[in-house]
Amino acid sequence: METDLKTVVSLQEAIDDLRTHQAQLHGIPDWMQELHDRHSERKAEIDALQETLDETQAEQRAAEAETADLQTKLKTFQEQIGLVRNQREYAALLQEIDTVKGHIREAEDKGLSALERQEESQKSLDEELQNFAELDGQYKTELVKWEGQKPQIAERIGELEIEVKTLEERLPKAVLGLFRRILDRHENQALAPIQKLQRAGKGPQMWHCGACNYSVRPQSVVEIANNGSLVPCDSCKRILYLPEV
Ligand SMILES: [Zn+2]
Repeated sequence: METDLKTVVSLQEAIDDLRTHQAQLHGIPDWMQELHDRHSERKAEIDALQETLDETQAEQRAAEAETADLQTKLKTFQEQIGLVRNQREYAALLQEIDTVKGHIREAEDKGLSALERQEESQKSLDEELQNFAELDGQYKTELVKWEGQKPQIAERIGELEIEVKTLEERLPKAVLGLFRRILDRHENQALAPIQKLQRAGKGPQMWHCGACNYSVRPQSVVEIANNGSLVPCDSCKRILYLPEV
């Protein structure tokens, strides 16, 4: 006779199987993991290079704008030369012009340095992109292969969902309610196998819960073995079962 305990064990197995398949469908398959990691790593390097390049471009543009502003300022000062009224004003104006020229040189140096770094970044980026092309192609091929496998996994998920529903319908409402509550509390593992304590020498047989190690009373083991009774572990409350030998 199919006991509730047997149904509950089958239900837990179907739920485990369903979750494994769902994780597979939404994750990266093992056979692709290594390539996926390598691809992500290289992609991150390329993104970092692109970011550096963008930064140097922004720096260069800022330096150019600063140079243009200073040139305008210089022109204004130079136009004032004809308007000075005495030697003192003339000396002061020349001083201003010298200062602005100094600032222009600094801004130009900044722009030049940014341009040099920009060229270096561009070169590294081009090299990286060239090297990346092969890996990227390989990755895209595997992605296509993976997409091709997905419908099969999705189909299996559909089957398992039906199996879970069928098994659930076989259980009395109270049992199913209990099972679901324990399932929620224990990260989708409502069951715990009973394990025999390995002891040297003679003595009475001892049993414990495979999930939390708390001891299981011999009377419970007998009830489970003979009647398929639903007995929770005294400590963690998971439903105990005897693994098939
Ligand atoms: Zn336990």
